[in-house]
Amino acid sequence: MIKRTLFFFLAASLSFMVFSFSDNEEGVATPNQNVIKTIVVDPGHGGSDAGAHGEYSYEKDICLDISLKVGKLIQQEFPEVKLLYTRTTDSYPSLHGRADYANENKGDLFLCIHVNSAPSKKVVTGYKTVTYYSKGKKRTRKVAQYKRVPSTATGTETYIWGAHKSEDKEIAVRENAYMLKEDNYEKKYGDFNPESPEFVALTLLKTKQYFKRSATLAGFVQDEFAKVGRVDRDVKQRGVGIWVLQATAMPSVLVETGFISNPDEEKYLNSEAGQNEISVCIIKALKRYVKWLEDKKGQDIMPDSFEEKNTTSRSANDTREFLEAIDKKEKAALVK
Ligand SMILES: [Zn+2]
Repeated sequence: MIKRTLFFFLAASLSFMVFSFSDNEEGVATPNQNVIKTIVVDPGHGGSDAGAHGEYSYEKDICLDISLKVGKLIQQEFPEVKLLYTRTTDSYPSLHGRADYANENKGDLFLCIHVNSAPSKKVVTGYKTVTYYSKGKKRTRKVAQYKRVPSTATGTETYIWGAHKSEDKEIAVRENAYMLKEDNYEKKYGDFNPESPEFVALTLLKTKQYFKRSATLAGFVQDEFAKVGRVDRDVKQRGVGIWVLQATAMPSVLVETGFISNPDEEKYLNSEAGQNEISVCIIKALKRYVKWLEDKKGQDIMPDSFEEKNTTSRSANDTREFLEAIDKKEKAALVK
């Protein structure tokens, strides 16, 4: 029984790896065709949720404009890729709705487009003398006068889900595993049990792979922004507010394209030239990411000795060791 499920785990992990890169029997990768089949573009906010606002514009509108431009370029550069949007109008799909849509359509990438905002700052503009009475005596004191000035925060950040949210991502991966979507999966896959440690380990593996892919794409996006002179605020992990990133069973990134709270950047974000520049940067990053996947670098999370170990049966301890080895390798790769 153990032997059988472990065998299943190993076979499944290999077929999952193959599945992610090529769907055809021969395993021949055609450029732009197999490594990514479906991209889900998610323009942030929408409808009654306007997101952040600047002096004259709203985040939701900029997100939609840029997303549609990115989509157009995706269609040009990757004509074989199925392109989906979570919204194409000024509407508000719920976060659950967005994640479900991406999962149901078996997206290979979830790309959220947002606009950043930083609170304005209070600055002292001078002092005013005020008169007041205390215990019957007339007194004066100086009171600082303030005005609010926009934050000078500027530039781009790209988010991936927080590492402490990996558990949620694992659940999303597990619940959306292709096998579970097939009818009679029990018949097809024998005594396969989605609650088994082996299957859980497999989804952990998949989650790690998605993490690596997301972090890599995010790095490419920031790199392309830096190349055109945008302020690079780096790849970040955020614990709150990025629920969709961990609810989608696929690599996922959220691009904060600039600060609407900064008047200069607000102009840039609303301009045709600015939106085009942002979209081109994202596409260049996507092309690098696809190339990286085609070079099979995105699947290299196995310990080097995996193939040999594969032939012998494993105990639960072996599985743990195996996952720890992946963990170490992942950590080494992620530390810059
Ligand atoms: Zn936002």
